[in-house]
Amino acid sequence: MSAPAEAVVDLDAYRANLARLRGAAPTAAQMAVVKADGYGHGAVTMARAALEAGSEWLGVATVEEAVRLRSAGVDGPVLAWLCPAGADLGPAIDAGVDVAAGSVEQLDAVLAAPARRRPRVHLKVDTGMARGGVRGADLSALIAAAARAHHGARIEVVGIFSHLACADEPGSPVNAEQRTAFDAAVAELAAAGITDVLRHLANSAATLVDPAAHHDLVRVGIATYGISPGEALGAPEDLGLQAVMTLRSALALVRRVPAGTGVSYGHTFVTQRPTTLGLVPIGYGDGVLRAASNTAEALVAGTRVRVAGRVCMDQLVLDLGDLDVRRGEEVVLFGSAGRGEPTAEDWARAAGTIGYEVVTRLGGRIVHRYL
Ligand code: PLP
Repeated sequence: MSAPAEAVVDLDAYRANLARLRGAAPTAAQMAVVKADGYGHGAVTMARAALEAGSEWLGVATVEEAVRLRSAGVDGPVLAWLCPAGADLGPAIDAGVDVAAGSVEQLDAVLAAPARRRPRVHLKVDTGMARGGVRGADLSALIAAAARAHHGARIEVVGIFSHLACADEPGSPVNAEQRTAFDAAVAELAAAGITDVLRHLANSAATLVDPAAHHDLVRVGIATYGISPGEALGAPEDLGLQAVMTLRSALALVRRVPAGTGVSYGHTFVTQRPTTLGLVPIGYGDGVLRAASNTAEALVAGTRVRVAGRVCMDQLVLDLGDLDVRRGEEVVLFGSAGRGEPTAEDWARAAGTIGYEVVTRLGGRIVHRYL
């Protein structure tokens, strides 16, 4: 392994997760979300695998991400849902990418885009996330303008969608409130004469636990990568999901040190007894979370060992205790609980964040290897 670390991506596990999610929402079409470079797994490879496995749609955030998929030869329906006014929409529309309009201003930008094809548009409703999309009078204005453009054959309204704020908290009343607001928006669109549209609301969490949110299509991201959408839903294995990525590296240096040795910047870790330290050539410059300093664990020779001291930009140190290992020994930072490895969720907990961030942060020095 010449790179500092490799992300081994198990496409069988990915396909199994897509099948598991299909089982959870059997009557809905499935949109595999591959934004942010496929949550750090490699967008093009994951997109191809998803389409081959039967996902009907691909979802990304930006139009640039969608165009990159097309440039790599990825066909099939793609929605890019972040289309702020000012985005360069023409190339995406010409590449057959569906775009989103979350305001009249955004719809005007779609209409003004220099494109040869008729834009295919999904209307974005704010049902309670207060991020993108519109509600109230702004929603009525968007629906009226979209209906005019649709009936005038200047766009095709293909879908209406929203995003859930609390889907990973199944007991939250916000979920029902958002579903109700979404149903009202769909009814308003129907009253404007547009009924043949894809309604989509569910992310991974809602796909797994909230059938009332499934509608015509589910947008599944994190769970397809074998990561739990939230602690309240349980660990991946409880949800029938398999870890897709294993982040592995190798010990670059092994040495014995006496008690009282301060380790890494700031000496936030000082050895309490003679111990063996292992240097791993991966750091926050590769996306390893610095906040996991002194808390996260790795698996070395079948043993869980802890990060000693602060994670540096290119390296981190493990406290190997009395493990009898040599330079070159494999280090698994995270992978599958079933193999006894720490998981992305474990790293998230150690760093006070979510599994999403653990995988999407992984940087350009990490080589992907697909199984
Ligand atoms: N839909 C939208 C609009 C999103 O922004 C995201 C991701 O954040 C998803 C779907 C997929 O969510 P998840 O990864 O939780 O399945």
